[in-house]
Amino acid sequence: MSLPLVFEAPKRAFPPRHLADMTADERREAVVGLGEKAFRAEQLSRGYFAGKTLADMTELSAASRERLAQVLPPLWTRVRDVSCDDGATVKSLWRAHDSTLVESVTMRYKDRTTVCISSQAGCGMACPFCATGQGGLTRNLSTAEIVDQVVRANADELARGERGVSNVVFMGMGEPLANYNRVIAAVRRMVEPSPAGLGMSQRNIVVSTVGVVPAIQKLTEEGLQVTLALSLHAPDDELRDTLVPVNTRWPVREVLRTAMDYTRKTGRRLSIEYALIKDVNDQPWRADMLAKKLKGKLVHVNLIPLNPTPGSEWDASPKEAEREFVKRLRDGGVNATVRDTRGREIAGACGQLAALEEPVPFA
Ligand code: SF4
Repeated sequence: MSLPLVFEAPKRAFPPRHLADMTADERREAVVGLGEKAFRAEQLSRGYFAGKTLADMTELSAASRERLAQVLPPLWTRVRDVSCDDGATVKSLWRAHDSTLVESVTMRYKDRTTVCISSQAGCGMACPFCATGQGGLTRNLSTAEIVDQVVRANADELARGERGVSNVVFMGMGEPLANYNRVIAAVRRMVEPSPAGLGMSQRNIVVSTVGVVPAIQKLTEEGLQVTLALSLHAPDDELRDTLVPVNTRWPVREVLRTAMDYTRKTGRRLSIEYALIKDVNDQPWRADMLAKKLKGKLVHVNLIPLNPTPGSEWDASPKEAEREFVKRLRDGGVNATVRDTRGREIAGACGQLAALEEPVPFA
């Protein structure tokens, strides 16, 4: 049975307003409203984005800390961390004030450390091969709840004696562009230099989408330089209507045209995500069809061996089919690579995030 598409998140109470929800001006106003000097806003922001808790900010008096706690409400309680790849991949499960659960995954590579974050609790896009989609949409995350996943991952890495987080991918739970305003505000917080934000490079941030066309058009006008990743998964409408139900609203041709407009405007190469599913979308003729649609365009195809989810009828393509698919794309003049799937055994890989309170059976 197919699930309905849900674009509007159910109205649920957001956490109290946090400084990461505010612009620099709003923070100053809020701090003054609490009876503190305006410069405290910068002090507080610098400490927060460096991963400090209020208790660590000993440069502030105890009385100030007590007052300022109102703009630093706790956002996530850590439920547990699970790691694999000799500790280089860590999946964290977080609980919000309203018991909502989400997951983030930190992946340490030779040249970078990437955190894959969630933008919604659950997801309303109902992709049948994805564990998150099967649970439906609980609610949108606030800007601060999104940013805080990066702040916490960065602080965790530094506490482990590793370098900090350099890259962020919006490929955890949720469809980022269905929570558009908060996701864009979160991106702005990530790239704003300290003390207003995390000071990350826009080029190190990937925003993924299944193809919410009006939101991609809006993103094109934001003046941002983030990478757009389009989860295509099929080159033809007939199959994509089933695999990515939002395709019934915005079909392949329209979504590709809109995503290429983003690429033309920003000069950023479009990332096409394609989960290879055995006997479903991995046929050589589909590779040829995809190559024909993408030839000569500034794109890179990331082929993702499908990750297993409990009770799913879908399976990863055999290696031979995977190799043939890549070869045909390359022969057709399209850049393509198979993504190293980190975190598979801890259900932390693409399409596996379900934020279950009980540890997953693969662990
Ligand atoms: S694949 Fe992405 S968009 Fe589709 S249901 Fe899963 S989380 Fe949502």
